[in-house]
Amino acid sequence: MSKKTVSDIDLKGKKVLMRADFNVPLDENGVITDETRITAALPTINYILEQGASLILMSHMGRPKNQPNPKYSLAPVAQRLSELLKREVIFNDDGAVTGSVTVAAAAGLKPGEVLLLQNTRFRGEEEKNDQGFAKELADLGDVFVNDAFGTAHRAHASTVGIAEFLPGVSGFLIQKELDFMGKALENPERPFVAILGGIKVSDKIGVISNLLEKVDTLIIGGGMAFTFLKAQGYEIGKSLLEAEKLELAKKLIEKAKERGVTLLLPVDVVAAEAVAADAPFVVVDINAIPANSMGLDIGPVTAATFTKAIMGAKTVIWNGPMGVFEMPAFAKGTAAVAKAMDDCDAVTIIGGGDSAAAVKILGYEEGMSHISTGGGATLEFLEGKKLPGIEILQDK
Ligand code: AMP
Repeated sequence: MSKKTVSDIDLKGKKVLMRADFNVPLDENGVITDETRITAALPTINYILEQGASLILMSHMGRPKNQPNPKYSLAPVAQRLSELLKREVIFNDDGAVTGSVTVAAAAGLKPGEVLLLQNTRFRGEEEKNDQGFAKELADLGDVFVNDAFGTAHRAHASTVGIAEFLPGVSGFLIQKELDFMGKALENPERPFVAILGGIKVSDKIGVISNLLEKVDTLIIGGGMAFTFLKAQGYEIGKSLLEAEKLELAKKLIEKAKERGVTLLLPVDVVAAEAVAADAPFVVVDINAIPANSMGLDIGPVTAATFTKAIMGAKTVIWNGPMGVFEMPAFAKGTAAVAKAMDDCDAVTIIGGGDSAAAVKILGYEEGMSHISTGGGATLEFLEGKKLPGIEILQDK
């Protein structure tokens, strides 16, 4: 699945339409509270400008319900981007996104100049992947660059439709996602260990199922481990249980056996009667969870076992916390996994969401080979699904 990237094509003198993910959080005064997504787009933006191209940026922000809404204007992004790029970023509050003011601005762009379009979701056609809107966008430029991995699992006009009218290549962010996650799934260095956690088995069935065909060891922690433990006959007290997924859990345990995959589940847990930061807790063996308690973190023996498996790996993928990591009393298991991933010599990939947040909070960001920027997109990628926003890009 090798896709062409910005560095594979000639951009000189071109008008490049780049789909970025500028869906940044804003406070009640419209001030950006986390600019990670903007800074993450800078390498691709700077590269395109250095090639002597002009740049038209597109993004969605929030859920404006298919109409202009000043709360979701990209104006604050234009301002911040201009500061970061140290050059003007032309921005029109164009509710039509591709209205005449925008068409004129795009037509007048010179090499090195940057135009940011208004929120693509101000147009109802965006999420419908409407051909007409996609063409209006495409008509503004000569080449399409997709660098918005977080929306690559959605077929929208600015992520997929547009590529029917323009040649499409990836930016560096999507390229990095494909390099790391694609290689891990297609041709990993072994041993390949996957760690899954979080609340729901049902959210991650596709990921578990796909990874069972690829990994040497599958580690399951977090709330979803208890459905697997129950399936093995353990009494889990008031721990999270998806009763309707018990049969499936049994099948997945069987599948692991058949495929020779080592399946590691908790052997001890930290249990409490309530999910509360100050709840009294006990560390118990997996067959001694008190009937009125719930497992809220993996225990120290489990953390040591998981650490050992990670330390012996050459590729590790992690998605989902090992416990209620938001509360210090139940964060030790998640911290142990993050530390092991930091310490080990493997290619380490964080599959987005809460594990990415945990790694950042714990200060292990630098130690990871790759932290995926997607939520839903990352899960679908790990499920082995083809992401439409990537499929439409040109093959190498
Ligand atoms: P997810 O979005 O599925 O990755 O789940 C993340 C959430 O799972 C976090 O907010 C954790 O607090 C929660 N979580 C992890 N382990 C447990 C557990 N044993 N019991 C209840 N919630 C958990």
